[in-house]
Amino acid sequence: METDKRSHALRELDRAEICRIPKVELHCHLDGIIDPTMLRDLQARGVTIPITAEALQRAYPVEDFESFSSWFDVQNGLAGGLDEYRPILAAHVERLRAQNVVYTEIMFASSEIWRCERSEVLERFRGFREFADGLEGGDVQIEFVAGWNRRRPHDGQVDEIARRILMLHEAGLIAGVFLAGPEEGNPSTMSPAAVRLPSMMASFSTTPTQNPARS
Ligand SMILES: [Zn+2]
Repeated sequence: METDKRSHALRELDRAEICRIPKVELHCHLDGIIDPTMLRDLQARGVTIPITAEALQRAYPVEDFESFSSWFDVQNGLAGGLDEYRPILAAHVERLRAQNVVYTEIMFASSEIWRCERSEVLERFRGFREFADGLEGGDVQIEFVAGWNRRRPHDGQVDEIARRILMLHEAGLIAGVFLAGPEEGNPSTMSPAAVRLPSMMASFSTTPTQNPARS
């Protein structure tokens, strides 16, 4: 009965009113933003994107792990660096603004942080952050969150990636970190730098206020 009443109340909400309600979007992967419609729009505007809308269209629907893998292979054609994502982020923020989203967290994979030298990482993220600042326009707050895969093999890269994540956080370029993968058998204590990641998570607030890392 309660559920019936609630869903009725939801139906009563006018669509325009739903659009007006301020929203937050807390789970969006940078490499998952692009869809065939956005891709066609960007390409029509002359933006060069190294995947085709047809190939991306064929990757849908994503219903299970196998179809996810096929989709991943197609969008992975974008992987190269953060700069490729600038027009995609801009188109995404345009959409969010139209839905009255006032705060969003964009997640990126750690592969974005170890493709180049450590100093270059800082420079690239600073550029990307400045680009996002330009998109914010005073009505949408964009924060970046770095991904940490618990199942990453415990090789020399683990410590370096953790260091880079901490470096980006200390530079105020990312708001926090998200851990992916099962905790069991994959403690985040495998490297001296990685042990600091959970405390960084604890200091990270997801409320739509100014992130203390950015002044
Ligand atoms: Zn996710």
